Amino acid sequence: MSFLELARCSLYYEVDGSGPPLLFVHGGSCTHEDWQCQVSSLRDTRTDRDAFRQLVGEITHFLAYEALPDLGMSEVVIDTPVADGVVARRVTENILVVPVLRAGLGMVQAIQEVVPLTEVAHVGLRRDEATLHSEVYLNRLPRHLDGRRVLVCDPMLATGGSLVQVCDLVRARGAKEVIVLCIIASAPGIAVFRAAHPTVRMFCAAVDPALNEVGYIVPGLGDAGDRLFGPPD
Ligand code: URA
Repeated sequence: MSFLELARCSLYYEVDGSGPPLLFVHGGSCTHEDWQCQVSSLRDTRTDRDAFRQLVGEITHFLAYEALPDLGMSEVVIDTPVADGVVARRVTENILVVPVLRAGLGMVQAIQEVVPLTEVAHVGLRRDEATLHSEVYLNRLPRHLDGRRVLVCDPMLATGGSLVQVCDLVRARGAKEVIVLCIIASAPGIAVFRAAHPTVRMFCAAVDPALNEVGYIVPGLGDAGDRLFGPPD
């Protein structure tokens, strides 16, 4: 069995009532050593920046692969070195990837390695450390997103507030579907997000129980932006 098949077997999800599964969590019931180790290494303070970035990429590959099993395709006719006129399939759907700055940037390349034809639109939020409330300082979303699917990525779903704001912006532009990818989500943050966006599918590698007094996920992994890119001056 391949790593992906193994990991897929370990996927579990929550179903709210009779609808489709909405929260996909990897790792919780997984016995596969590699997968457990990847999330543990991310948490470990001894993991340096290069290794951290690499691990975020590896986990994001897997999350993106799981999130989009149904990419829009069309048939094309190709010639192979040994046969002409072979009917093949190509991806034609143009997914918009929305990284939430700054840490979301660490997931973009890995998504693009798994999903062809993406476009990227950045959204930046600044957190007021006193109120823990975020305000949008950059919004590069296309004006119209009618009929498009949008993948919002942020490694840490902490209070849930900024992710709610980003999904509000995306939906206000008419997106057909919004899907969220994160590495670690807090249980309280999931509840906040779920209340605001009950139908958005979320994919994450781990769910942690708590937030501390400054809004960090516990046990978490610290500041994902700092660990990916280095601390600010
Ligand atoms: N953002 C982070 O990078 N880490 C947290 O724990 C919470 C928000």
